[in-house]
Amino acid sequence: MSDEWEQGPGYSAEQPGQNNQNNQNNQNNPNNQNQNKSDIDLRLEDIKRTVIQGASEAQVRLKRVVGKANEYIQQAQTAPTMTPRTPTSVEEQRIRQLANMWSNENWRVARELGTYMDVVSWSTDEVWEVTLQTRWETRSLETISAPYTGSAQGKPKPLLPVWDYELPPVTGLKAPASRTRLEGLDDVVACTSCNGTGHALCETCAGRGWYVCPDCKGRTKIRCSTCRGRGYIADWVQEEKKPFFKRQAENFTTSVNEKVADVFDGIRNQGVPIPNPVDTDPANKGKTVPCPDCVNGEVDCTCGNGKRVCETCQGAKTTFCVNCNGTGKIVRHREIARQFDLRVQNKVVGTSAIPERRLASANGELVYSAELTETLYADAVPEGIPTDVWRTSVELAHAESVNPEKMGRDNPLSGTRASLQVLELVRIPYTKVDYRYGNQNYIFYVYDGEGQEKFYSDRYPARWDRIERLVRAISTDLLTTGAEEPKSGSQASGYRVPVEVPPYTITEDDEHNQ
Ligand SMILES: [Zn+2]
Ligand SMILES: [Zn+2]
Ligand SMILES: [Zn+2]
Ligand SMILES: [Zn+2]
Repeated sequence: MSDEWEQGPGYSAEQPGQNNQNNQNNQNNPNNQNQNKSDIDLRLEDIKRTVIQGASEAQVRLKRVVGKANEYIQQAQTAPTMTPRTPTSVEEQRIRQLANMWSNENWRVARELGTYMDVVSWSTDEVWEVTLQTRWETRSLETISAPYTGSAQGKPKPLLPVWDYELPPVTGLKAPASRTRLEGLDDVVACTSCNGTGHALCETCAGRGWYVCPDCKGRTKIRCSTCRGRGYIADWVQEEKKPFFKRQAENFTTSVNEKVADVFDGIRNQGVPIPNPVDTDPANKGKTVPCPDCVNGEVDCTCGNGKRVCETCQGAKTTFCVNCNGTGKIVRHREIARQFDLRVQNKVVGTSAIPERRLASANGELVYSAELTETLYADAVPEGIPTDVWRTSVELAHAESVNPEKMGRDNPLSGTRASLQVLELVRIPYTKVDYRYGNQNYIFYVYDGEGQEKFYSDRYPARWDRIERLVRAISTDLLTTGAEEPKSGSQASGYRVPVEVPPYTITEDDEHNQ
């Protein structure tokens, strides 16, 4: 909407002879606001005339919006004519520069705020961010069993509490988990799976050395496939000659039936005693002869005796025990498993109206950074650190070192201890500026180090363009689409400028709603 609006045909705020490009510069100068305002006044009059003729619900709502905008314009015109202020000190000049920086990077803030605001007062202060990082190490003794391999045992040593072992040093606050095998603590014990024999019953054949033949289920005979177990077949020679098509049809039926019959045979072979509904007995069709391939419908199975030799143990009934690889022995190693986790604590010392989440993004000035290798003393304040900041840090470090939640279950076989602590103290300077703009009092904060200043304010003068844009948006809608038929739903959502907040002022909430 704003782009259209910039080039809107109805826009006539430019002074004669100026083009749009110059106009852009005009907007940077609040002196032009008066000129813009009178233009908007005229527009509002136009709009009012148009709107008043309508009476629909939507028009009533529009009237309210226009009325509100008009009210803002009225208030805007009560603001004194803006003239650039002259700084009276180097500090004030710096503050004005910063305010201009702020309005340059935040399009919601009045343009060139630093040039036109009245600086009432300013004060500087600082907050400190205390960051304590603690690397917690958890050690636990674990027993790992493995098949005995005959490897050297080493000299036997006594088992010590987990923290008495000197383990490889770990550097850095973040460290991966690791394991260390302890020398001289291996036990060689008998394998309980095989009772120390190294042998175990073959699992495939359950120690029999053989299994029942799956083809004949141990019966040594299987059904003859030629006669489907009947023992006789049709005597085809006897068959009368049939017309070609009848023969074709019968052949087809026979082949389908045979396939179905095979399926049922398969099911019966699995041991399910079901009759075969499509297997028509050849005896029903005519003469039969004994099956040439079998005796009484059965043939010998290839297994011969109903059993098959177990392929896993080749009939030996036992195999090597998998637990001990056949050695009959297990070696138990002792290992210390180490895990590390990092806890980061932040605390802001000092008061300011700047929310902590904003301060967290500040870089600040790192004044103190050290690995805490010994107990900190509240009285031994390092140079350049305020006493209360140091005291807070000492308390924080102390509380974390004896963290009961972490140290809860310390015993000779396991425990958790702080194995590295790093303390960082960061100074974040800030300046609080009281100023007036358009007959209203405001405050803004500049924080963080030089060259990386950040700004915070919970309310500030809004950029004039925003109100202007609102009025233009309303007028464009009203004058181009006509007051008769306002687009439903567009009235409220179309105007991006919030009209319910006081003019010239934006609050933090407003910013979040955008
Ligand atoms: Zn074993
Ligand atoms: Zn047969
Ligand atoms: Zn068999
Ligand atoms: Zn076997």
